[in-house]
Amino acid sequence: MANESSTTSPLLPTFARAELSFERGEGPWLITPAGERYLDFGAGIAVNALGHSHPHLVQALTEQAARVWHVSNLYQIPEGERLAQRLVDNTFADHVFFTNSGAEALECAIKMARKHHAANGHPERFRVITFEGAFHGRTLATIAAGGQKKYLEGFGPKVEGFDQVPFADLKAVEAAIVPETAAILIEPIQGEGGVRAVPAPTLRALRELCDRHGLLLIFDEVQTGVGRTGKLFAYQRSGVTPDIMAIAKGIGGGFPMGACLSTRDAGKGMTAGVHGTTFGGNPLAMAVGNAVLDVVLAPGFLDNVERCSLLLKQRLAELKDRHPSIIEEVRGEGLLIGVKCRVPNTDLAAAARAQNMLSVPAGDNVLRLLPPLNIDETVVSEAFSRLDAACAAIEAAHMKGAAE
Ligand SMILES: *Cc1c(COP(=O)(O)O)cnc(C)c1O
Repeated sequence: MANESSTTSPLLPTFARAELSFERGEGPWLITPAGERYLDFGAGIAVNALGHSHPHLVQALTEQAARVWHVSNLYQIPEGERLAQRLVDNTFADHVFFTNSGAEALECAIKMARKHHAANGHPERFRVITFEGAFHGRTLATIAAGGQKKYLEGFGPKVEGFDQVPFADLKAVEAAIVPETAAILIEPIQGEGGVRAVPAPTLRALRELCDRHGLLLIFDEVQTGVGRTGKLFAYQRSGVTPDIMAIAKGIGGGFPMGACLSTRDAGKGMTAGVHGTTFGGNPLAMAVGNAVLDVVLAPGFLDNVERCSLLLKQRLAELKDRHPSIIEEVRGEGLLIGVKCRVPNTDLAAAARAQNMLSVPAGDNVLRLLPPLNIDETVVSEAFSRLDAACAAIEAAHMKGAAE
């Protein structure tokens, strides 16, 4: 039966889905049609920043739904102006372009960097340096930027113009800079790559390299943004400011949206007609984005992320001591936490799921814990007990296997 539904599903089988569905959600909990409750430490891959059915988001969405959903970017969208202004007021940026996804935010960032140099009389400068282990999305350009073989294979010639270097390798970056280089694109903390943080001195050195060579520095904060790391954006931890930044995931709290933020100078080539989107920035999305910011920017919200991060890391350190054959390392910032495993990360994910807890595997054999940002210590304790039980179940299975 388990495979029946997947083989007969009308959905294109590009996802290996668990045999699990949910009827509703409440804060950090997801509830199945049979009424079983799951602790959601995946949050739709860092999307449900405020958990499920947050009253302020539900109200914003339903009020806007009764007013107007979509008008296109042929007209003024005051809610979008307001959201853009709030993002500008709270970041390095002067401008915002709204999209429907992370990959589209990256597409805008890459096009903007190329256009910037073209507008400066250097259309030959279009190459972008990226890093091994990166993930920037699934469009043709963003799989080329990410450079992962498994995502590129069979999809024809790789989009030209991306030069990949080893993770956080400054010497390799310097060697990769050529007269055609336009920009450096990096996630301050790799998410899919396994919660790998780029050291702050490396980010500073990248900034200096960009300034010295006239390159634009692009941060992909699709996963790290909107409070996930305990600051509104991860770059604010390092104090290194990009020229362009792609965001998505958390900004819609579950409503599909993204944005490309930039300085005026970086965006100088992006004039009327050169780029566009039908859906991006529509009133429904903008209403929800503003509602997310109402909560995330409220005094004390980010302090709670830092506090819960510390608590969770303490509990996970305890877990590592209790289960050294399963957990190798705990890393990450804020509530973007990676548990590097000594068993296959998918085994730990499955064992946690058997304890009614959701998490997300990542590269480097890491299990990602990405709870909603508005959790408290009770939820952290719940997560600890479930992971502890999951580890114990794996150990028991190993013991049994060894005895047989
Ligand atoms: C998820 C993600 C993307 C892609 O976002 P989509 O909305 O799936 O297109 C890009 N970059 C990073 C760092 C991500 O985590």
